[in-house]
Amino acid sequence: MTGQDTTRVPILDLKRAFKDIRGEVQAALDRVFDTQSFILGPVVRAFEEHVESYLELPDSGAAVGCASGSDALLLALMALDIRPGDEVITTPYTFFATASAVTRLGAVPVFADIDPGTYNIDLADVERRITPRTKVFLPVHLFGQMVPMEKIVPLLKDRGIKIVEDAAQAFGAWRRTENRIVRAGTAGDVGCYSFFPTKNLGGCGDGGMMVTSSPELAARLRKLRVHGEGSTYFHEEVGLNSRLDALQAAILDVKLPHLEAWNEERRSLAAFYRLCFEKRGLTRPGGIKLPVELEDNGHIYHQYVIRTPQRDSLMAWLEERGIAARVYYPLPLHLQPCFAFLNGRPGDCPEAEKLSREALALPIFPGLQAEEQERLADAVAEFAASRF
Ligand SMILES: *Cc1c(COP(=O)(O)O)cnc(C)c1O
Repeated sequence: MTGQDTTRVPILDLKRAFKDIRGEVQAALDRVFDTQSFILGPVVRAFEEHVESYLELPDSGAAVGCASGSDALLLALMALDIRPGDEVITTPYTFFATASAVTRLGAVPVFADIDPGTYNIDLADVERRITPRTKVFLPVHLFGQMVPMEKIVPLLKDRGIKIVEDAAQAFGAWRRTENRIVRAGTAGDVGCYSFFPTKNLGGCGDGGMMVTSSPELAARLRKLRVHGEGSTYFHEEVGLNSRLDALQAAILDVKLPHLEAWNEERRSLAAFYRLCFEKRGLTRPGGIKLPVELEDNGHIYHQYVIRTPQRDSLMAWLEERGIAARVYYPLPLHLQPCFAFLNGRPGDCPEAEKLSREALALPIFPGLQAEEQERLADAVAEFAASRF
């Protein structure tokens, strides 16, 4: 029984959600073609305004589009005047761009370990790694779950440490704090998002955005994304060429009103996975571990990541049965060859290192079917019967 007669369960199938909005997207693209205005301009500004209201930014706040999530992080650090030698505390368990934004400016990423249940940065370890050179805290709301920011923001403010949130995987994720909903990306000085096609709010190409509640930072970010230009051809500082284009903004503007429903669907799919695995007795000690969702968190399950010490054999087992799974991430950043100059060593972040050997991301996306989840759970149960 290797399931040859059934179709494949993909890790991600963007076609399923797109079919419902294809007509709307095509009409929006046609309106941009009518204007023949492609870089920034009114369509981009309209999308930025819609993001500002979706995130409920204060009136002083602003959303500033740019070319990618990676650029958003770099621009945010530039706007905060991060310089060579400055320390930025971040997680080693994330996509590469989080830390490369820091090293691109000659600053030093200082890696704090992670929490083994939520996979997010461990705030107690962050505190231990603060030094007089710490300029920025750069948390990642990993896999769609927000870091409990309220537990550390007051301490950082006291010490004059700025906060840049990497919310590339968490557009729409939230946390309830003192009976208020705080969205990922709005708890610090600058929040950064990616519209890479596979993200929860994904474009049809690259795109990114920064949000801030500070008018000064917003003005600086707007200047930095256009080569540091004050007025046309007068450059006040050296910035980047990093603009959001009108075609992407038009597509994203069609998708934004659907985001809440898509994120809710991901939450239901996650709940159903839990049910499927519990029903089959797979979560008992010695079985698989499911992702921990903190109380008061609106996890939007950009990824659904389980853990097991038998990760590699389980992944191969699923693959043989036509079920895709992926490893995010196989090597923590403190051990990446390009960061050898930082002198990271095995054992520096033991929880992150262990997770990199155990994490397995399962299919989760709008349009994933219950039968597909059941099929996956059956395959894990067969694996467990033979191995656990
Ligand atoms: C995707 C991602 C980025 C980078 O975004 P791009 O738009 O691909 O440049 C940064 N950080 C994290 C955590 C990401 O997942």
